[in-house]
Amino acid sequence: MSGTNELDAAFFLRWLSVAAAAVDREADRLTELDSAIGDADHGANLRRGFAAVTDTLGKEPPATPGAVLVAAGRQLISTVGGASGPLYGTLLRRTGKALGDAPSVTREELAAALTAGVAAVGQLGGARVGDKTMLDALVPAAEGLGESFAAAREAAERGALATVPLRARKGRASYLGERSVGHQDPGATSSALLVDALAEAAA
Ligand code: ADP
Ligand code: MG
Repeated sequence: MSGTNELDAAFFLRWLSVAAAAVDREADRLTELDSAIGDADHGANLRRGFAAVTDTLGKEPPATPGAVLVAAGRQLISTVGGASGPLYGTLLRRTGKALGDAPSVTREELAAALTAGVAAVGQLGGARVGDKTMLDALVPAAEGLGESFAAAREAAERGALATVPLRARKGRASYLGERSVGHQDPGATSSALLVDALAEAAA
């Protein structure tokens, strides 16, 4: 999709529906990753959250990109119990707010909004790149999106894989200290899934 192409509410609804399907399909793998360095609920958390998002958006589809993301974020915050609910909820809400009430946006505008959303996640959770969290996939993805959807997808995937040798410094996995080394972070993995869904929606 070229830079001048407009991403409308239907595009964002498609993204979240592709994302919900991916989360549902990959929930067991996410939970498996979380069982190694967490409490084995990441897949179930996100499956519940994205099912609720799909439900809400299906009943009352908002008319603008910003409103779609704000509604989805609010739903994640209220339905996901784990740390990832408020973090992903904040990501989508802040990204949505940054898009304002425009009826459609460009990829570049989405990249700027996503950068603001990712910064809000960092502020809420106090994590930085290298702490072995979802930010290890989200920060490079937002940067890559300035270039293309494919670059965002590749950057997120690379970022998620790069969490394997890291020692967790935030979240539940940080309680394990050195024992968190050698495992891929579940949140970085789900972030890569969400960015993959974004690229798929754009294809
Ligand atoms: P919980 O840890 O409460 O069980 P989840 O299992 O749903 O929640 O999500 C765990 C993921 O959340 C981690 O893999 C990590 O990527 C992300 N995470 C946890 N704490 C933080 C934080 N402070 N900042 C950013 N991401 C975090
Ligand atoms: Mg967990």
